[in-house]
Amino acid sequence: MSAGGTGHDGADVVVVGAGLAGLHTATLLARGGHDVLLADRRPRLTGAVRTTGIFVRRTLDDFDLPPEHLGPPIRRVALYPPGLRRPVVLDSDRDEYRVGDMGPLYEAGARAAVAAGVRLALGTRYEGRADDGAVVLTGPGGPLRVRTRFLVGADGARSRVARDLGLDRNSELLTGAEEVYAVPDTGRTPTFHCVLDPTLAPGYLAWVVDDGRHAHVGVAGYAHRFPSGLRAALDRFAATAPGLPGPRPEAVERRGGPIPVGGLLHRIGCPEGLLVGDAAGAVSPLTAGGLDPCLRLSAHAAEVLDDALRTGRRDALAAYDGATLRASFRGRLLLRRGLAAVRTPAVAGAGVALLRTPPGRAAARRVLFGDRSFPDPAPVRRTAAAVPA
Ligand SMILES: Cc1cc2nc3c(=O)[nH]c(=O)nc-3n(C[C@H](O)[C@H](O)[C@H](O)COP(=O)(O)OP(=O)(O)OC[C@H]3O[C@@H](n4cnc5c(N)ncnc54)[C@H](O)[C@@H]3O)c2cc1C
Repeated sequence: MSAGGTGHDGADVVVVGAGLAGLHTATLLARGGHDVLLADRRPRLTGAVRTTGIFVRRTLDDFDLPPEHLGPPIRRVALYPPGLRRPVVLDSDRDEYRVGDMGPLYEAGARAAVAAGVRLALGTRYEGRADDGAVVLTGPGGPLRVRTRFLVGADGARSRVARDLGLDRNSELLTGAEEVYAVPDTGRTPTFHCVLDPTLAPGYLAWVVDDGRHAHVGVAGYAHRFPSGLRAALDRFAATAPGLPGPRPEAVERRGGPIPVGGLLHRIGCPEGLLVGDAAGAVSPLTAGGLDPCLRLSAHAAEVLDDALRTGRRDALAAYDGATLRASFRGRLLLRRGLAAVRTPAVAGAGVALLRTPPGRAAARRVLFGDRSFPDPAPVRRTAAAVPA
């Protein structure tokens, strides 16, 4: 990349956003021999973390995450009504979740990307596309125009790349916020505590994840439905949150951000590029888990782009179809409507009471301990080359 002034550059693919989706897509493409520029506005990937970092068993089984950056396994979930009395406790006989130490995990991902040949540009903001299709970035050395064959939007829930490529954009969003701090290991059972209370978390849950090393205390919901705002809800919850071994310390790490829950978007690709991760709406509408979906969709995106780059055919991106994959989200979209409809503590209490019954417990186990997350897209059928690759 040019060091200063209005520089010019070229790349097979420009990926905007070095979250998990962008890092994974860029690394797979570079391993396939393509020239990839990965730009993120964050100057350090350890800063401005926006996720709790709970990885589900299916992800831990299928993807190589460095185990030294994962917390102890969690097998227990406790579901509380408003008032926190008599939680429904579910134990799994398998390790279900591990919480990632996200700063070091992003850094490990960045090292893997660079080792694969990705040119990583941190502190570099995507500004838009020029009339000739070049990507316009602003980095530490000033503005930069990059000619590219394909543009990938891995730039999160409010994707600017989606707008510029004329693709679908997320319209149903939750907003979440949490505090993270180290806790003493007193031999407690690592537990994921979930509180169903629409005054704390309208349309979603308040949570405490305590894996014996760190506590994550958070709330999320529809922004316009927090009675006194998100911050006040988090403060109120942090003061009474269940399952914590002691008082909250003075200094805590704060995290937060939007979570798309409208399901995978229909139009996530076009001849000029595509979207991955939150930008594509690849988040479970019910659990709001996006880490497994973003890894799976990124692998599919890299396969489609590899085909397009090797064959020289832009129309190969037609195989990247959100509408087909979205079909498997139908059930979870219905359950999302159900969760969104919980508007009073009385209804939330009745919901948790239902979860106490054998069918309710079985349903909760299926959602919390089941293997369904994001559908594995069908393998890409290779396109016939239009031009010599
Ligand atoms: C509070 C909270 C808790 C969550 N907890 C969990 C959880 O425990 N488990 C789970 O599975 N999911 C969780 N999620 C959802 C999950 O974190 C996301 O789905 C996932 O991280 C999305 O990854 P991504 O790479 O698509 O986006 P992001 O991680 O948001 O990355 C987008 C990147 O794009 C960069 N960017 C944006 N705009 C520009 C620009 N113009 N120029 C350059 N760079 C740009 C940003 O700096 C960022 O690095 C949570 C979400 C929130 C908000």
